Amino acid sequence: MLDAFGRNIRYLRLSVTDLCNLSCRYCKPRPVPKLRHEDLASIDELMSFLDAFAALGFDKLRLTGGEPLLRKGLAALIEGGVQKGFTVGLTTNATLLAERAAELKSAGLSSVNVSLDTLDETVYRAVCGGDLADALRGIDAAVRQGFPLKINAVLQRGVNDDPRPLIDYARSVGAELRLIELMPFATTADYVADRAPDSRSLLRQWDAVPIGREGKVDRYRLPDGATFGLIAPLTHPFCAACDRVRLTCKGELIPCLHRPTVYPLRPLLKRKDFVSILKSLIAEKPPRHLLAEGVYQPIDMGSIGG
Ligand code: SAM
Repeated sequence: MLDAFGRNIRYLRLSVTDLCNLSCRYCKPRPVPKLRHEDLASIDELMSFLDAFAALGFDKLRLTGGEPLLRKGLAALIEGGVQKGFTVGLTTNATLLAERAAELKSAGLSSVNVSLDTLDETVYRAVCGGDLADALRGIDAAVRQGFPLKINAVLQRGVNDDPRPLIDYARSVGAELRLIELMPFATTADYVADRAPDSRSLLRQWDAVPIGREGKVDRYRLPDGATFGLIAPLTHPFCAACDRVRLTCKGELIPCLHRPTVYPLRPLLKRKDFVSILKSLIAEKPPRHLLAEGVYQPIDMGSIGG
């Protein structure tokens, strides 16, 4: 469907849980109160949401979280999404993927994006609070299942100042590496202020040459020919081409990741005119984020669904 600014909005990022087995320092501040069961949208409700989004012409679905592999019923949701006409992707830290990859493939999952900020075991533990080996096992399983794979690393000073090891690793598993600018949220702004590198000077330091833009990803080549993507919402925003909205595991619509407007949709789901209500809310998606003006999302990324 078209929004008020002529953008074709067709991509739903659905957070299926706000629980996570990692605790990445830039993502979700700890401790986070656990959601009450009744506050979580059920799988049936999520299916009904998908029907409504499909009726509006949405055809891309990404399941995220929290850590989506912690959500019971994930495979059923993937199957349902595929039946409703969506191409279904998953964003995961991969630490629980080794045992699940085959099941998710059978359910119809199309692709996997893995978040992996570093290949240094000690740094991984310090920043994300988990075992790097688990994530690597998960990636291996995804490769064995033949999933198209992307590896996403959030740029942080002292964590991945040199992208080389990640680029080489991504290439070795047949994946594309995408570096992501560390984005400020109200709850994690201190960490971000401390750790966000200036991506422009990093690119200069690496002698990276731009080789084009694909959607929201700027592609670069290093002097030895290795390539990587950069997602730069701060220094090279892509709001004018944004085609997505987010739905939290509580059934709240978030039209723009960085704007505080949140619409709780569960109470409206049974209404006969739900699809047209949804359409009018999405049509009002803001034209751009206001990060440069210092307007930060008060909800943390882990609760919205990255
Ligand atoms: N648990 C899953 C994972 O690790 O991929 C899905 C949820 S996580 C919130 C989704 C993505 O958001 C991850 O790639 C994470 O690195 C990214 N993310 C979280 N906080 C961020 C921030 N402040 N800036 C940039 N990316 C962020």
